[in-house]
Amino acid sequence: MATDSNKFQAIISHSKEYGFIFPSSEIYDGLSAVYDYGQWGSELKKNIRDYWWKSMTQMHENIVGIDAAIFMHPTTWKASGHVDNFNDPMIDNKDSKKRYRVDHLIEAFADELEKAGKKEAADALIQEMESLLGADDMAGLKSMIEKHNMKCSVSGTCNWTDVRQFNLMFSTQLGSVSEDSNEIYLRPETAQGIFVNFLNVQKTGRMKIPFGIAQTGKAFRNEIVARQFIFRMREFEQMEMQFFIRPGTEGEWYEYWKAERMKWHLSLGIAAERYRFHDHAKLAHYAKAACDIEFEFPIGFKEVEGIHSRGDFDLSQHQKFSKKKMQYFDAEINQNYVPYVIETSIGLDRTVMMVMSEAYCEEDLSTAEKQDSRVVLKFPAKLAPVKLAVLPLTKKDGLPEIAREIMDNCKPHFRCFYEEKDAIGKRYRRMDAIGTPFCVTVDHQTKEDQTVTIRYRDTMQQERIPIEKIKAIILSEIF
Ligand code: ATP
Repeated sequence: MATDSNKFQAIISHSKEYGFIFPSSEIYDGLSAVYDYGQWGSELKKNIRDYWWKSMTQMHENIVGIDAAIFMHPTTWKASGHVDNFNDPMIDNKDSKKRYRVDHLIEAFADELEKAGKKEAADALIQEMESLLGADDMAGLKSMIEKHNMKCSVSGTCNWTDVRQFNLMFSTQLGSVSEDSNEIYLRPETAQGIFVNFLNVQKTGRMKIPFGIAQTGKAFRNEIVARQFIFRMREFEQMEMQFFIRPGTEGEWYEYWKAERMKWHLSLGIAAERYRFHDHAKLAHYAKAACDIEFEFPIGFKEVEGIHSRGDFDLSQHQKFSKKKMQYFDAEINQNYVPYVIETSIGLDRTVMMVMSEAYCEEDLSTAEKQDSRVVLKFPAKLAPVKLAVLPLTKKDGLPEIAREIMDNCKPHFRCFYEEKDAIGKRYRRMDAIGTPFCVTVDHQTKEDQTVTIRYRDTMQQERIPIEKIKAIILSEIF
């Protein structure tokens, strides 16, 4: 059985073994912090994305979605502040050449203090770090690291370079001939694709404030310390929504979106105590107020989503740099203004990791007669990659034909999986391992009375139901 400390490793192995997540280009030994989603991982990820999309757009009449390009005019990133400010302070150990994010190095040291029963000292350290980060005091951070004799985990020495700022954007060249080429960036967030389209959407959609624009898509960050599986990747996917509001109403909308997003998380069937809000002490260059929704991963409480009150920073910056008016005429108060924005920004890959961590269970099923266990992914049915497995008990006597008919009847409506190989118990276990909530078995009695056995993944209970009810039962569970 996996303990909490090795549960994380168990999830990584399980994800690979059962076709959820593979290291990228693995035949060439992989690429650091880049992952590929396999046959079931991509279904799970798509289901989460669709669920988010539906809850944002279909369920909110005043939110519409867009799909902006990854490449954007380079001035976008000047205006947004990413060229000048999207940095992480980092430090190198001169002996091992290992590079650390300064906040990670200090946090790891504080964790050790806390484990040694020195909680007050650990808290004081974090507070000191946050105030130095807030003041962009790189020299202060370095002396703090030296004063506490924080060591590199590889060399074991305290021989550090100065603390430097490291920009996280990837750049590349646009244009085929080097003389004509322009340096452009791979977007580090999807949000700017929304801001530059604010006027297009507002005018063509005749949108009235308050309204939102949602988008999902890839983002790229050259993370200094990229580890912890799909928690911190260099290429990842975000699901973001920018909500445009009248200035002065940001306090209430910020609280509204905090509550609304927490409701969404709880609708995944995850218990409230697995979440907490974390208010930012150090605000990003654009933020007026900001918090994270943190989830208790097997590696501890970590951010899955950020909620930010951005004021009119982004639209005003784009107005300044593009010289195009980013204003809205509010007929209710007869005024023109640059709208304020509340942003909700959630990482899709981190949500996949959250759902996997919550779903992963190792169960001991041993009886007095025999030892037994299973690994089961208890996904909410609406997110499960496969909803229904159709399993003829044997390969003969006309059972596969009946099973095929059930498949044909159900597969236009939800993802089904057909399998006739191996003993039924083994097939159930394989379906448990990919989180399939329902299995139906076609047996000889089916030929007599048109009933099948339905088996429920979590309870492993079985009951007989008429074939004609299968579709309705599953549809009622997945919406
Ligand atoms: P962190 O502090 O963990 O680096 P962040 O505060 O920089 O994250 P945001 O810029 O607020 O993150 O991005 C919004 C969301 O995008 C995050 O809550 C997270 O879920 C996701 N995200 C950010 N960076 C990564 C990454 N490198 N890999 C996977 N997901 C990420």
